[in-house]
Amino acid sequence: MRELKAFDKEHILHPYAPANPTAEMQFVKSATGVYLELEDGRRVIDGMSSWWSVIHGYNVAELNDAATTQLAKMSHVMFGGLTHESAIKLAQRLLAITDKSLEYLFFSDSGSVSVEVALKMAFQFWSSQGNREKTKILAFSKGYHGDTFGAMSVCDPVTGMHSAFEGILHKNIFADAPECAFEASWSEEYIEDFKAKLEAHHKEIAAVIVEPIVQGAGGMRIYSPHFLKRVRELCDAYNVLLILDEVATGFGRTGRLFAYEYAGIAPDILCVGKALTGGYMSLAATLTTKAVMAGVEANGNVLMHGPTFMANPLACAVANASLELLLNSPWQKRVEGIEEILQVELGRCNALEIVKEVRILGAIGVVELHRAVDLAWMTPEFIERGVWVRPFLNLVYIMPPFVIPKEELEQLSKAIFEVIEAYEKR
Ligand SMILES: *Cc1c(COP(=O)(O)O)cnc(C)c1O
Repeated sequence: MRELKAFDKEHILHPYAPANPTAEMQFVKSATGVYLELEDGRRVIDGMSSWWSVIHGYNVAELNDAATTQLAKMSHVMFGGLTHESAIKLAQRLLAITDKSLEYLFFSDSGSVSVEVALKMAFQFWSSQGNREKTKILAFSKGYHGDTFGAMSVCDPVTGMHSAFEGILHKNIFADAPECAFEASWSEEYIEDFKAKLEAHHKEIAAVIVEPIVQGAGGMRIYSPHFLKRVRELCDAYNVLLILDEVATGFGRTGRLFAYEYAGIAPDILCVGKALTGGYMSLAATLTTKAVMAGVEANGNVLMHGPTFMANPLACAVANASLELLLNSPWQKRVEGIEEILQVELGRCNALEIVKEVRILGAIGVVELHRAVDLAWMTPEFIERGVWVRPFLNLVYIMPPFVIPKEELEQLSKAIFEVIEAYEKR
C-alpha cells in the first residue's frame, strides 16, 4: 500500500492539485452504503456523494446487476450508425421525466462535455439560420459549468477556478450572481443587472446559461425560484435561448426532480450528468426542443459533435437502473428528511462566530465561513470524526447520498460543527 501511495504522489495528478502534493491522499479500499473504507480499515461517512453523484450510496445490488447484465451483452459499441436498447430506454426515461417540450437528447461522457454540446447547439441554432452576430453567451458570476474550454468560458472568471486561462478563453458576458435568497420576497431590483446586460447585448447573445436554484462549485449559493422565472421571461423577451445546467442539481438533489421545477419554467436546452448513473460511471446528456433542433439543422446543417464513447452501453444500463431505483424509492421523503435534519443539526453552526451563513436546500447543506478553510488541517480532523468532507474556498458543505440514515447524518453534521468550532479557536 505504501508503495502504491508513493507512486501516486510521484506520478498521478489529482483535481486542482500540485504534481507532488504535500497533502496526504486518503486511499480508499472499497465503499458500501454511505461508507468509504480507508486503507487502515477505518470507515468514514461520505458527505460528498463523490461530488453529487452517488445518490443511492455505494455498491448497490441493483446497479451492480445492471452493469454485469449489460457486460455480458456488450460493454461498448460505437454510436455512429449503430444504436442499442440501453441508450434508447434511457432516452425514453429522460425525456419522460423532464419537461415535455424537450424532445431530443444527445449523450456525452461528462458534465463538461454536455455543456460544450449545449453551447454548440445554441451557436449553431443561430448560425445555421444565417445569424452570425450571436456569438456570445450571457452567464452569471459565481457560476460553474465545467473544466473544458467552452465550459470554462462561462464559469465565474474568479471563483470558477479558471483565472489562469483568462486571456485565452472566448469572451462572454457576465451578469451579477443571483442575490435573492430562496425564500426571500421578490423585488425587481434583483434582476436589474441581468436585464441591463440583455438589453445592451442581446443582439450578440446566443444564449443564457445558468445553474437553476443552486450555484454549485462557484460558491454553493441558493437563490429564489422567482429569479429563475424572470430569467426565462427575459430570455423570451430578448430572443435568446436559455440553457439550464442541472449537472449538479438534477435527479432530486434540491427536493425536486429537477431544480427548474421550483420556478415552473422549462429550458430550451438542459444539461444533466453527475447523478445520472448513481455515480457508477461517467455519463451525461444534453436535451433540447424540436424548435432548437430545427434551427440547428436549418440550411442542411447538423449538430457537429460525436464522442467516441457516446451512449456507452454500460453507463446507459446503469443509468436506467439508477433512475428506476430512484423513481421507485421515496426519494422526495428522504430528501425532505435530510433537509429537516440539516436545518436543526447544521443550523447549530449559526451560533459560531466564524460562521457567516448556513444555507440548506433539499439534500444540500452549506456552511459559509468568514475566512478561507484550511484543507490540510481540516481533512484529518474530519476523518478522525469518521466523516469525509471536502471543503473549498470558505465553504464547508455536504450533499450526502439520499439513503443516509438519520444517525449517520447526525454524526456528519456534528463533525462539521465540531471541526468548525475547533477551527475558530485556532
Ligand atoms: C460538475 C459540474 C459540471 C461538470 O461536470 P463534469 O462531469 O465534472 O465534467 C458542469 N456543470 C455543473 C453545474 C457541475 O456541477
